[in-house]
Amino acid sequence: MIAQPVRDFNAYDKDKHCAAPDDFRFEVRSMTLPDEIICRACPRNCGAVRTLTEGGGFCGAPLLPRIARAAPHMWEEPVISGRSGSGTVFFSGCSLRCVFCQNYDVSAGNFGKTVTVERLREIFQELIALGVHNVNLVTADHYVDAVLCALDRPLPVPVVWNSGGYQKADTLRRLEGKVQIYLPDMKYSDSEAARRYSAAPDYPDAAKAAITEMYRQTGPYVIKDGIMKSGVIIRHLVLPGQLKNTYGVIDWVADTFGPGQVLFSLMSQYTPMGRAANYPEIDRRITSSEYRRAREYMEKKGVTDGFYQEKSSAKEEYTPPFDLTGVE
Ligand code: SF4
Repeated sequence: MIAQPVRDFNAYDKDKHCAAPDDFRFEVRSMTLPDEIICRACPRNCGAVRTLTEGGGFCGAPLLPRIARAAPHMWEEPVISGRSGSGTVFFSGCSLRCVFCQNYDVSAGNFGKTVTVERLREIFQELIALGVHNVNLVTADHYVDAVLCALDRPLPVPVVWNSGGYQKADTLRRLEGKVQIYLPDMKYSDSEAARRYSAAPDYPDAAKAAITEMYRQTGPYVIKDGIMKSGVIIRHLVLPGQLKNTYGVIDWVADTFGPGQVLFSLMSQYTPMGRAANYPEIDRRITSSEYRRAREYMEKKGVTDGFYQEKSSAKEEYTPPFDLTGVE
C-alpha cells in the first residue's frame, strides 16, 4: 500500500505511515512510506520534491534509502566500538558535502544500493546477529522517514545517530525515543569556514541548536561495562590552519555543558581528500603542533570528558571499503 503524498516533510504523520499490523512479528512487517514529499528536513530547506526513487534536493536522496555498506566497524570511539564492533550502516548522499569529505563517492557520488524499509530492518537484524554493541546509522538524516519506519519497534541494542551536525531540531524531535546515542560532528564555529568548505554559513547556529536538542533527548551520557548506552558524543575534526575554528567549538562545548553531561572527541585524522586539492590551505594533514595546541586548549577549558586520537591516527581502516558489503 502506498500512502497519500505528504506536502510538508515535518507535517508527516509517522504514526499513520509507520503503523504496524496487529499480527506483528519481529521479521514480518508492513511499513509504508509516503510516495512523495516536499522536503525541508534539514537546514538547506530545499522544498524539493522527493519520491520513493528520485531525489531532487541538495542531498540528491530519494525517500527509499541508499546504502553503501553495512558491517561491524572497530574504529569508532572505544565506548561505541567496544570489543565486538559497532554495526555501521553507511547511507548514501549528504546534505553537507564538505569539500574534504573522506567518503566523497558515497556522500556526493551517491554510490550505494536502494533498499526497502523491510530490507533496512533486516540489515539491522543481521548486524545485531553478529554481536555488535549498537546499530550505527551514518549520515541517515535525509532518510529519517525510512529509518523511523524501520525502527518502529525497538531494537535490542542502542541506536546511534551518526551525523554531520547540520540538522534541524524539528527533524531530530521525530527521532525522540528511537535513538539512544547521538554522535554529531561539530565541524565549525566559524561561519566563513562553514561557507567555504561546506556551502553552509549557517552551520554553527544549526549545529548548536541540533546538539542542544540531542542532549535534551538523551540527558547525561551513560556508560556500562565500557560500552555507551545513551548520551551524546560531540566530534570535532581539527582542520589544517583552522585552530581558531577549533577553539570556538571547544569554547561552545565548555560554556554549554558541564562535567558528566556530554563526551567530546577531538579528532586528528584529517586527510586531504575529495576536492581538498582545490583549497590549498587545507590540502595537507594537520601538524603535531596544531593538534597539541588543540588538545591543550581543550584541557585548559575543562573539556575533559571524552577522547582524543594519537596524532598518527590517520589509518586507512577508518575509511572502510564502500563495496555494498552487508547490503545485498
Ligand atoms: S534533506 Fe535533502 S532534499 Fe531535504 S532539505 Fe535537506 S538537502 Fe534538501
